[in-house]
Amino acid sequence: MHTLQKIVFAIMPSSWRVGIQAESERWMLKCPNCGFERSYWDAGGIRWRAAGNKTVFGKCPNCGQNVGFAVYKKNSPA
Ligand SMILES: [Zn+2]
Repeated sequence: MHTLQKIVFAIMPSSWRVGIQAESERWMLKCPNCGFERSYWDAGGIRWRAAGNKTVFGKCPNCGQNVGFAVYKKNSPA
């Protein structure tokens, strides 16, 4: 687990953690350069009770370019 996630989880009731992780895993980051995708959670972030799309700038682990990742929310599993 990443540092931010440890800190947030340390201050939150344990009953919230599963929901927060699940929601963070539904938010995806997609590289516009190579199409590589990973979840917000995998990237070390937490996104919870948020809405709307935005852009997150960072280095793509796949193509190595500094890009603006498109952020979008995957549909819940059926
Ligand atoms: Zn890329």
